Amino acid sequence: IGGLFGPVQGLSGVYKTLRTASVAIRQVFSILDAQDSLGDAPDAHEVTHMRGDVTFEDVHFAYPSGAGRPLINGISLNVRRGETVALVGPSGAGKTTLMSLLCRFYDPDQGVVRVDGRDIRTLKQLSLRRNIGVVLQDALLFNESVKGNIAYGRPHATDAEIEAAARAAHAHEFIQALPQGYDTLVGERGSRLSAGERQRIAIARSLLTDPPILILDEPTSALDAESEALVQDALGELMKGRTTFAIAHRLSTVVSADRILVLKDGRLIEEGTHAELLRRDGYYASLVRKQTRGLLPELPAPPLPATP
Ligand code: ADP
Ligand code: MG
Repeated sequence: IGGLFGPVQGLSGVYKTLRTASVAIRQVFSILDAQDSLGDAPDAHEVTHMRGDVTFEDVHFAYPSGAGRPLINGISLNVRRGETVALVGPSGAGKTTLMSLLCRFYDPDQGVVRVDGRDIRTLKQLSLRRNIGVVLQDALLFNESVKGNIAYGRPHATDAEIEAAARAAHAHEFIQALPQGYDTLVGERGSRLSAGERQRIAIARSLLTDPPILILDEPTSALDAESEALVQDALGELMKGRTTFAIAHRLSTVVSADRILVLKDGRLIEEGTHAELLRRDGYYASLVRKQTRGLLPELPAPPLPATP
C-alpha cells in the first residue's frame, strides 16, 4: 500500500486529510457530542484489504446527551459484501444513528458492530473510515479547485484518474463547461455549483477513494427531479460491487435494493425485498401506499401466507 501513497511524508498528509474529512463528516452527520477520545486501542489493527461484510449483533445505543433515551434498541443484521440494503423508516427512527455507529463515531452501549467479522473497536479508526464512503444530503466541498475536491481522499491521483472518476459520476461535462475546467474554484462550500453538481463531485470523490462500504444518507432529497435523475445514475455507478447502505425517502431508490430494512423506534420491524414487504402488507406497504396515493403497484406474484 506504501506505493499507492508515495513517500512517508505523503502518507502523513493523507492522514491529516482524512482526519479533517472525518471531523467534517461528523459535523454533517450532526454528531456534535461524539468524543474524539474514542481512541484506538494500543493493539488496534490497521485494515488493509477490507471485504465489506457488516454485522450488527444486538446493538443498543443511547446518545450521551439524550437523557438516557435509547435510540437503537437491539438491532441485529448481517450484510454481505456487495449487497445493497435500503434503510427505511420515519424521521427519528435511528437510521442515521445506526450509520454513525458503523463509522464508529460512537460505541454501542451493548452489542457489537463487526466489519469482516472483526469488532470495529479493535480497528484503527482512520483505517475504518477510509474504507467507508459517505454521500450525504448536502455534499461537503472545500473552497478549492474541482480537481482538488475530487482528489480529496487520494491527493496523489493523476489527472487521468480524476477525469475517469468525474466521467463515471456524470460530472465531466459540466466541469469542462466551467471557466477554468477542473481548475475552477468551487467557492465557499461549493457555492458556485448547483446542489446536483456538488453531489456528483462528491460521488466522483468516492469513486476515486474506492471504498468497499458505502453509506448514502438521503443523497438526493435536496434535488429537483432533473438533477436527481443524474445523481441517481451516478450513484448507480458508485454502488457497483460495494456494500451499500442507502437511506432514502423516495421509493424509486428503495425498490431496487437487495433487501429493505424497516426501522422504527430503533428497532428493525420488517425486512425483505420490495415485493415481499408489499405482500406482508405491514408498515412498509403503508409507506408505499402513502407515496403512491393509495395505489399499490401490481404485485409480481401471489401473496405469501401472512407472517407474524
Ligand atoms: P433518522 O435518521 O432515522 O431520522 P436519527 O438517527 O437522525 O434518525 O435520530 C434519531 C433521534 O436521535 C432523533 O430524535 C434525534 O433528535 C436524536 N439525535 C440525533 N443526533 C443526536 C445527538 N447527537 N445527540 C442526542 N440526540 C440525537
Ligand atoms: Mg437521518
